[in-house]
Amino acid sequence: LEKLYPDINPQKDISFRLTEAVDLIRMENELRTALDEQQFKLVYQPIIDLETQSITGFEALIRWQSPKRGFVRPDEFIPLAESTSLIVPIGQWVIQTGLEALTKIQKRVNHPVSMSFNIASRQIEEPNFLEFLLDCAEKYRLDYQQVKLEILERTLFDSERAIAWVQQCHALGFPLVLDDFGTGYSSLQYLNEYNLNTLKIDKSFVQGMNVESNNKSCSICQAIVNLSKTLGMTVVAEGIETDEHLQALKSFGCTYGQGYFFSRPVPLEEAIALFEDPRFSSGE
Ligand code: C2E
Ligand code: MG
Ligand code: MG
Ligand code: MG
Repeated sequence: LEKLYPDINPQKDISFRLTEAVDLIRMENELRTALDEQQFKLVYQPIIDLETQSITGFEALIRWQSPKRGFVRPDEFIPLAESTSLIVPIGQWVIQTGLEALTKIQKRVNHPVSMSFNIASRQIEEPNFLEFLLDCAEKYRLDYQQVKLEILERTLFDSERAIAWVQQCHALGFPLVLDDFGTGYSSLQYLNEYNLNTLKIDKSFVQGMNVESNNKSCSICQAIVNLSKTLGMTVVAEGIETDEHLQALKSFGCTYGQGYFFSRPVPLEEAIALFEDPRFSSGE
């Protein structure tokens, strides 16, 4: 049971653990039907060029509206989807839907826009994953550079296929983003070994910044920006909520950012409408 449901806390007493396990099994069954019953949707959060204030792309984020549970946060169901392999069909739906959305965005916008997807370790294990991605990109006539793949630091350790997979993505031209950078193993070894394009600064560092006292979170953000530049990588800061966050990151030389200060993740129609928003420049 613990292998299948690693989220069960072994510290708690057995009856409580059973209640948790039963709930996880219920949730698993609900997740199994959620795709067919169209309970998932995607929302899109813009990624901004901090210099020009233009929208360069979006991150696709999944939402589950469960008829029984109401809105369930991805942090609550993605780990279960991963341990049960349901992430494989769900992840395919995400890519299919997100790329279709990108073609609709692209019809309205003249410069190339990118779409970033969160990829779980379990998806990398799937031998057909890249083939599926290639087929989708072909189907929607997208440049591979527009399709960005976000992975967590731990994925590079979890998966034996990771090195080969990263090299394949690199060779094909799909940009790779190391998400939540700084919260995982942050080994400099894999920055040395792997062809990764972008570091994404975790929102805990961005939101932990106290500009007045120039605290450690400020130093960490600055250090990650410098590290990415030294390695010839691009850098994105996530979780920008205030103008203060934005100004501090700009002063460190951070080039891209996303966060509630610019926009929450929004449905496709609202995402397209952001290009008309005077707060953002046209980027041309
Ligand atoms: P993530 O990839 O690190 O995504 C960033 C999270 O920060 C998102 O939470 C986003 O809504 C939130 N966020 C963005 N700007 C701000 C801000 O200014 N302030 C605050 N407080 N939060 C902000 P969300 O959508 O709940 O997703 C949580 C995590 O779930 C994601 O973290 C990602 O790891 C995972 N996830 C979401 N969609 C997918 C998916 O399609 N596939 C997989 N495998 N994982 C996904
Ligand atoms: Mg992400
Ligand atoms: Mg992140
Ligand atoms: Mg995260």
